[in-house]
Amino acid sequence: MTVQIITQAPLDAPAGPFEVAIVGGGAAGLATAIFAARALRERSTYEAARTRVLVLDGAKTLGAKILVSGGSRCNVTNVHVDAADFWRPGSPFVRQVLRAFPVPETRTFFEDLGVALKEEPLGKLFPVTNKSRTVLDALLAEARRLDVEIRTSARVRGLARTADQWRLETPTEPIQAKRVVLATGGLSLPRTGSDGFGYELARKLGHTIVATVPALEPLVLGGGFHTPLSGIAHEAAVRVSRPGEKTVEIRGSILWTHFGISGPLALNASRFFRRARVEGTAADMTLSFVPHLTAEAVDHQLVTATRARPRHHAATEVSGAFGLVQAVASRLVATSIGRDEPLSRLTREKRRALVQSLTSLPLDVVDGRGYNFAEVTSGGVPLDEVNPKTMESRLVPGLHFVGEILDVDGRIGGFNFQWAWATAKVAGQAIAKARR
Ligand SMILES: Cc1cc2nc3c(=O)[nH]c(=O)nc-3n(C[C@H](O)[C@H](O)[C@H](O)COP(=O)(O)OP(=O)(O)OC[C@H]3O[C@@H](n4cnc5c(N)ncnc54)[C@H](O)[C@@H]3O)c2cc1C
Repeated sequence: MTVQIITQAPLDAPAGPFEVAIVGGGAAGLATAIFAARALRERSTYEAARTRVLVLDGAKTLGAKILVSGGSRCNVTNVHVDAADFWRPGSPFVRQVLRAFPVPETRTFFEDLGVALKEEPLGKLFPVTNKSRTVLDALLAEARRLDVEIRTSARVRGLARTADQWRLETPTEPIQAKRVVLATGGLSLPRTGSDGFGYELARKLGHTIVATVPALEPLVLGGGFHTPLSGIAHEAAVRVSRPGEKTVEIRGSILWTHFGISGPLALNASRFFRRARVEGTAADMTLSFVPHLTAEAVDHQLVTATRARPRHHAATEVSGAFGLVQAVASRLVATSIGRDEPLSRLTREKRRALVQSLTSLPLDVVDGRGYNFAEVTSGGVPLDEVNPKTMESRLVPGLHFVGEILDVDGRIGGFNFQWAWATAKVAGQAIAKARR
């Protein structure tokens, strides 16, 4: 008797059906798989829940973005996370999702996976190992423990709903699933696999997409102010004024570079420049080197210093009195009043020009560095097309969205990962609950 061993299903016979197929195995996709598999196990017997959760990723290996995140240390979350840390500030949708997975639960989640976290300045939480690999390995180990099936080099090329099932087109075979989660990320750092195709999949299913732009990207400046300061970092504030809107002030550390500015302050400010461009408006930015002082206070201080130390040169006084790096002080003096002079020789006009530069130096932002340098994408699937209780599409039943594909982007500090974990928790639980 001959026994026929079938090693491969015919090409048009779909694999599955899976309880859920998660498209994209980044932070949000892997976490969704874990939360869904855990919740499914709670609701069914071990055997019934086996291998019912599938993750499909187009990349050869998973987690490229987790690995590069936080300078390869992965800023997993932040001690204080609030809807105000995201665009748009105070959104009830964002607040509701964040409440479903508060930071203490994120900490417990990772600690249970063996990832101890430590707090750094500004409330940033990192693995104590200082290695993002620890985070990725823990997520993958937990997915394996839960029998999540992971397929790499499995880019989803098409998605269609057939009666009560989904059919996903992959390079090898079609796949059937009861539910689909789009966790395809945005467009930032496309070499990690996030190339925006998820938006196409959503669009073809009837969703609109809020115009996408890079966010958290370094900014290219015109003029030459920045060039000699390349490599210097210091605290500062950027004020952003947009027509008809309240001025926004952002504080933090700025890094001068050969092309312009980088560092947390520049990255946080960048989204305003891009969004204004795409919305056809303008965002004027000015920089204060003394964020804690008003122009009046700085002027008063210089007048007092002139009486007390008339022979002090302006750059030395500015550096000493306001705690500025000498090179920055000299640059400010050179560009605002020309030659450095003793304070006694400063005319009122020159002093005022210096005060103006110190407190509101106009930033001539000519461009951003683009998606290859941006940490996240602003724009994406609009929140009013998604149910915040389930992350399910309001337009297409059985379709969920998690992570960066949604029209939400957070500031620097662990907020974007917290968004990934929180949306994953909501979707994972909803998927198990909806199980027929
Ligand atoms: C350099 C850098 C540093 C960062 N540092 C931090 C940090 O320290 N803290 C923080 O909070 N945030 C940080 N971020 C942002 C954070 O990494 C992202 O917000 C987060 O990873 C988004 O997770 P995601 O799962 O939604 O998307 P992604 O991580 O982008 O994952 C999407 C996945 O989907 C896959 N995919 C796409 N299309 C398809 C398809 N058609 N079929 C199958 N698979 C597909 C991709 O291959 C990818 O693996 C950083 C980002 C960058 C670029």
